[in-house]
Amino acid sequence: AARLPSAAGASPAMAQWFALKAAHPDALLFFRMGDFYELFFTDAEAAAEALDIALTYRGEHQGTKIPMCGVPAHSHESYLARLIRRGFRVAIAEQMETPEEAKRRKASAVRREVVRLVTPGTVTEETLLEASRPAWLLALVPEGERLGAAWLDLSTGAFETEALAAGDLPALLARLEPAEVLAPPGLALPGAVEASPPRDGARRLAEAYGVATLEGFGTFSAAEAAAAAMALNYVRATQKGEAGRALPHLSRPVPRGGQGVLQMDAATRRSLEILRAERGGARDCLLAAVDRTVTAAGARLLADRLGCPLAEAGPIAARHDAVAALLAAPALRARIRGALKGAPDMARALGRLALDRFAPRDLAAIRDGLARARVIAAALGGEAAAPGDPSALLGEAGGALPPLLAEGARALRPAQDPAPELARALAESLPARLDDAGIVAPGYDGQLDGLRRLRDDARGAIAALQLDLAQAWGVAALKVRHHQQFGYLAELPAAAGEKLLRDPPAQAAGDFAPIHRQTMANGVRFTCAALAGLDRRLSEAAEEAARREKAIARHLRELCLAAAPGIAAAAEALAEIDLHAAAAELAAEGGWCRPEITGRPDFRITAGRHPVVAAALARNRGPAFVPNDCDLSPGQRICLLTGPNMAGKSTFLRQNALIVVLAQAGLFVPAEAARLGLVDRLFSRVGASDDLAGGRSTFMVEMAETAAILNLAGPRSLVVLDEVGRGTATWDGLAIAWAALEALHDRTRCRTIFATHFHELTALTGKLPELIPATMRVREWKGEVVFLHSVAPGTAERSWGLHVAKLAGVPRAVLTRAAQVLAALEARAKGLDPLSDELPLFARAPAAAKIAPPPGEHPALAALAALDPDALSPREAQEALYRLKSLL
Ligand code: ADP
Repeated sequence: AARLPSAAGASPAMAQWFALKAAHPDALLFFRMGDFYELFFTDAEAAAEALDIALTYRGEHQGTKIPMCGVPAHSHESYLARLIRRGFRVAIAEQMETPEEAKRRKASAVRREVVRLVTPGTVTEETLLEASRPAWLLALVPEGERLGAAWLDLSTGAFETEALAAGDLPALLARLEPAEVLAPPGLALPGAVEASPPRDGARRLAEAYGVATLEGFGTFSAAEAAAAAMALNYVRATQKGEAGRALPHLSRPVPRGGQGVLQMDAATRRSLEILRAERGGARDCLLAAVDRTVTAAGARLLADRLGCPLAEAGPIAARHDAVAALLAAPALRARIRGALKGAPDMARALGRLALDRFAPRDLAAIRDGLARARVIAAALGGEAAAPGDPSALLGEAGGALPPLLAEGARALRPAQDPAPELARALAESLPARLDDAGIVAPGYDGQLDGLRRLRDDARGAIAALQLDLAQAWGVAALKVRHHQQFGYLAELPAAAGEKLLRDPPAQAAGDFAPIHRQTMANGVRFTCAALAGLDRRLSEAAEEAARREKAIARHLRELCLAAAPGIAAAAEALAEIDLHAAAAELAAEGGWCRPEITGRPDFRITAGRHPVVAAALARNRGPAFVPNDCDLSPGQRICLLTGPNMAGKSTFLRQNALIVVLAQAGLFVPAEAARLGLVDRLFSRVGASDDLAGGRSTFMVEMAETAAILNLAGPRSLVVLDEVGRGTATWDGLAIAWAALEALHDRTRCRTIFATHFHELTALTGKLPELIPATMRVREWKGEVVFLHSVAPGTAERSWGLHVAKLAGVPRAVLTRAAQVLAALEARAKGLDPLSDELPLFARAPAAAKIAPPPGEHPALAALAALDPDALSPREAQEALYRLKSLL
C-alpha cells in the first residue's frame, strides 16, 4: 500500500474503492464491476504479476492513468486459488444493488460492500482446498509460561483446543501444519496474522453457542477459551453477513487436553517424515506409503491420526478391534470399499451449505453421501445388498461388530434424513451454479412446472409468431431472434427492412404494426405489440421460474441444515469406516500384524519392516527388504547399534519408531508380531539436522536436541538416536555420546536405540547392564563389501569406512594412505584405552585429536609411502614434492 495515491479528487466509484481498500489494507481488493472483479493501483500490479495476466489502465486519477487488471466473475475461483496459494489475502467487494436501484436513489455509483475476506485459513471452496488435508485456522493466546491454542477447520466444522507449555508450540505447529495462524503481536510468530484476544473469552464463547456456561463442553483454561473466541471472531470478520452468523455449523470446541496423545516434537516429526518427506518425492512419507483410503475425508482422518497418535491403551485397542474385524471379513471389506469409492465429501458440502456458499452439487453430495451411508450400514448390519447376495458377511467377521463399527453403523442412518426429499427434488443432471436454471427435477413442484410450461409455451408461440409476421410483412427471410439488450426482435434483410419502413403492407397493422428498433449494415430490426407482449410473458415466466427454483434450493438447504448434526455424524462415520477398512486392506496386502499394546515397558518386534523403504524397494523391483527384530524389553532397554554407513542403521531406527506411530494411531504394523508397551513420548533424531537458515551449526542443533531428550524423556518414552556427537572433533563427540548413553541408561531409563560410529562406545557394554550391543551385518566378498541389512547381536568386528569410501569412488592413493593412518590410530588407541582404569574418559584423552602419524615414523615417510607415482600428473608430482619438502 506504500505507493497508493491519496483519494483526493477520485471519481465516485474510485472513491468507493479507496474507502474499501482503506478498511482492508493488507488484502487485494476484488472490486465487482458488472461481470468482472477489477483490481486497481498496487493491487492490480501485484495480481497481474502473480496471475500472469495483462495489466492495463482505466481512466485517470490525479492526472495519471490508473493501473488495472480484472478477472471474470464466473471463473474467479481459480484466480483466487492461485492468489491464496501465493500467500495473498483477498477482500471481495460485491455490488449490493442494481444500477437501476442506484439511479432511483440518485446515487452516482452503485453501493458496494466487502462481503468476504478470503484467507488461507478460512476458504471453503473445493478448488481452494486440498481434498485430503484439513485446513486449520490456529489461534494462540499466551498465558504466562503457557499457551492457549484453538484450531478450527471452517470447511468441515471441526473445532478443538489445547492448553500447552509455550515450549511445545513448535511441536503443535508441526502436528497441525495450520493454513493460517492468529497470534497477538507479543508472540512474534513469523507469518502469523496479528489479532488480539477478546477480554472475556469464555463468556463470548458461551454466548456464541447460546449456552450459559462452557462446562458442558469440557474444561478450558482461560487462554484456551480466549483463543477459541479469537478464532471465532476472525471467522466472523472474514465471512461477514450470513456466513459469519452460521456458527451452528462449527462443532462445539473440544478440549484435547494434551493427555492421551503421543507427544512428538517438531524434530521428531521431521526426522520420521510422517506427513511429508524432507527429501525425495511426495510418496516417500509415511502417510503416502500407508494410505489406502478411498475417500478424501478418510484420507484427512488418516493424516490426523498419524499426526496425533494416542497414548491410551483402551481407545487404541478399540481401533485395532475394528481393523481386525474388517481384516477377517474380506468380502464385507470389499463391499464397504466399493460403496465408499467415489462417495462425495459430505463434511465439506455441509460446510458450504452452512456458510451459504453452496452450489447445486453440494445438495447432490448430501443426497449421494447419505445413500452410500445406507448401503454401508446395511452391509455392516449383515443385510444383503440385493436379493441373492450372500448376506453372511458378518458371520465372516465373527458375529458381533466391534463397538467402533457398531457405533459407526448407527451413525450412518441419521434419524432425520433429507436424502429422499433431495432425491425427488434434484434434477438428474445439475447446473454448475445456483443461478442457472435446471436444478429442480420436473414433477417435484407444481408451481415451478406451471411456470416452465408457460415459458416453453411462449417459446413455441414465438416460433409461430415468426411465421405470422413473415406473412403479414411479406418477408419470407424474417427471423425472430433474442438479443441480450432488447429481448426478442424480428430481423429483416436490409432491403426488405427499408421497404417495410417506407411502404408497410396493409396487414402490418394493429398488433402487427412494425416498430423500428435498429438499422445495421446488413439488416433492420423491428418489434411489434404482439412480439413485445410475448417477449414480456416469456421473460416474466423465466424470471418467475428462476425465483421459484432458487426458493426451492433454499428450502432444500434448510432441510440439510436442520439435519446437519446427523449428516455430520454420518460423514464422520464414513471417514472412520473408510480408515479402518483401509488399515485392514493394508494389513492384508503386506501381511501386517495387530500390535499388542500393554501398560508395561515392553518392546518386542519380530520381523519388523520399514513401511516406506520396503514399499519403495518393492515399487522399484529392488532387492527384498530384510526384516529385523528389535527387543528392548526390561533388562535390555538400550540397543547400541554399530555398523558402517549405508548398512541400514537409520532405516532400522526409523522403522521401530514408525511402528510405534502406526500402532498407537490405531493401525496394524509391518511386522510378524509386535508387543509394545504404551509410549508417552517419542524422540527421533535420525538424519541431517542442519539449521543453516536458523544460523545454528549442526553441532549446536544436535546438542540442543540431545538436551531436549535428556530433559523430557521418561521411563515410558522411546528414543531413537543416530550418531550423537558426529558434529564435532572425535573426542568431544565420543565424550558427549558416552555421557548421554549413561544418562539414558541410569536416569531416564527409557527404551533407546542408539546408533553410533564410535566403536569405543561398545566398551560400555560391560559397564551398563541394560545396554545390548547390536551390529548391522556386513560381508566381504571378493574384496567388496556386501551389506546384508540384518541386525545381529554383538559389535562390528571392524570398521568398513574405507570400503564404503572405495565404493564411493575415493581415489586409490587416498585410500591407501587412509589405511595406514587407520592402522596407526588403532595401534595408538590401544595404548590409551579409556577403560584401562576408572579415570573418566576425557581426563586421559587429548583435547583435540589430530590425525597424527604413529610415533617413530617421520610424517614425510608416510606421505611418500602414500604417493602413487603412476597416478600423478606432472603438475601434481611437482606439488607433491613441495609438500614433502614442507614436512621436513
Ligand atoms: P545407514 O543409516 O547405515 O547409513 P540407511 O539406513 O540409510 O543406512 O540404509 C541405506 C540403504 O540401504 C537404504 O536406502 C535402503 O535402500 C537399504 N536398506 C536399509 N535397510 C534395509 C533392509 N532392512 N533391507 C533392505 N534394504 C535396506
